[in-house]
Formats: sequence, C-alpha cells, structure tokens
Amino acid sequence: MSRTVFLNGDFVKEEEAKISIFDRGFLFADGVYEVTSVMQGKLLDFDGHMNRLERSLNELDFTYIVDREEMRQIHKKLVKANGIDDGLIYLQISRGAADRSFKYPDESVKPTVVMFTQTRDSMKPADPEKGIRVISVDDLRWGRRDIKSVQLLYPSMAKMAASRAGADDAFLVEDGHVTEGTSNNAFIVTPCGTLVTRQLSADILHGITRAAVLRCAKELQMKIDERPFTIEEAQGAAEAFITSASNYVMPVIEIDGKKINQGQPGPVAIRLRDVYLEESLKTAI
Ligand code: PMP
Repeated sequence: MSRTVFLNGDFVKEEEAKISIFDRGFLFADGVYEVTSVMQGKLLDFDGHMNRLERSLNELDFTYIVDREEMRQIHKKLVKANGIDDGLIYLQISRGAADRSFKYPDESVKPTVVMFTQTRDSMKPADPEKGIRVISVDDLRWGRRDIKSVQLLYPSMAKMAASRAGADDAFLVEDGHVTEGTSNNAFIVTPCGTLVTRQLSADILHGITRAAVLRCAKELQMKIDERPFTIEEAQGAAEAFITSASNYVMPVIEIDGKKINQGQPGPVAIRLRDVYLEESLKTAI
C-alpha cells in the first residue's frame, strides 16, 4: 500500500515524493535524522527525540529551527493518515540542494525535510522472548557518533557482517571496549547484578531509549555503572541486552558464539523492557 509521506511542507503519496540529485543528504550524507516509536498510535518520548534533533542540527551548524508544535502535528498526521498503531516515524533533515561543493551553501538554501512511517511488522523485529545473537566487529565509524547523522554505511556493513555470520547484530569494539551496537546501545548485567553501559561521550549515540531505561533502572533501585566494558566481560556477564526506539529492550543471548544466561533472555532485561514500555506509554502523546 502506498504511504502518505511528508516532504518540505506537503503530504504526498510516496511515489510522488521526489528530491533533487543535488541534495547534500544524497551527495555528502549531510543530514541528520530521528526515529520515533509509535505504540498504540502514540508517539513515545517525542520531546526526547526533538531535543536530540536540535542538538544534532546545532552541532552541524544547521540554521533550521525546529518548530516543535508543527513537528508534533506532522508526526500525528502521518500516524493517522497511514493508520500506524505499532511502528515508527522516520524524520530526516538534510542541508538541502546546492551545486556540489564541500563548503556549506549559503543560508538561502532551504533544508530538505522528509518524514515517513514504517509499521513494526514490516521491519521484521526480533522476538524479545528469543533474544538476539551478536558478533563483535571493529568500530570503524567517524569520531562524532553523538550526532545522529545519516552517514550509516559502516553500521550497515557491520550489520551485514553479522548477518553473514548467522547473527542478528554486531557490537562495535574500539580500543578493546564495546562502544555500542550497530543501531542501539549496549548493556550488560554483571554477575553481582550491576547494570553497566558505556558513559555518554562523542563515542556513542545518546540513545533516547538508553536514557529512559536508566531512569527505569533507578526507579527500580538497581545499581548502575556507566563505564566501558569488554567483549570478554560481556561474555561472562549474567545478562546482556540492547536498547533502541525500534527494538525497545532486546535481550542478547549470545556474543561471538558464547551463550549468555544459557542462551535465554534474562530476567533483568525482561523486567526493564516491561517497565520501560509501561512508563513510556504513560507519557506517550
Ligand atoms: N546507537 C546508535 C548507533 C543508533 O543508531 C541508535 C538508534 N538510531 C541507538 C544507539 C539507539 O538510540 P535510540 O534509543 O534513541 O533509538
């Protein structure tokens, strides 16, 4: 079925949405994006995503001003027009179309704003009752992973390496420590029950789900340690899991062929997923 999408102020059918071959998103990956989850027809943590969008735009010197109320209305309209009950909204803002040049064009060039929906089914999500298997690969991405840029070729390559190895995803490793997953943040639960995830820096994307799950863990009075961990520590952990807007909390049951929690989703990951979903729905709009 043809979706209704949003392009530069207009709601159009997906076949009619066309952008210039000179768009800098296309030529330079000069753009940022957000993915907001839709559950029961409602947007999860919309403000968190808009805050991060503003930060990404700011870090790249975009002059685009986010009108939050307008963004909210467009998101809601797309949910309605496409009958999305369970899925997501993808939003991308590129610096716009200008004759190819490494220097940014002047401010008369308008950014390209694109939004479209995806149903959760169409993304073939992993089953949280089964969990996922991951492999480790070197983290060869650029140094500003805190910016949610559309430059996603390396994560895509890593995901393909995982798929070719018969796994579901990859943990990216730099200087002997896990940074994050290809499109998610990585957590472990130590044998003593402490929740460990890498601290925020330019090394990782500041996941909206990561932040929400840490809030839930605090509410549950869990011990939290924000620090890097190695693949060996993760392999010896009581549990491992990933977080993202599209997968929520997803247990990891195997790392580089070594089973975690006997190859079963662990109780902490399952509990955090349940609490996260419950809490997120309370503030969903
Ligand atoms: N890290 C990376 C590299 C990602 O691409 C994503 C999802 N886009 C995440 C973490 C998770 O972020 P969020 O919880 O905001 O979806």
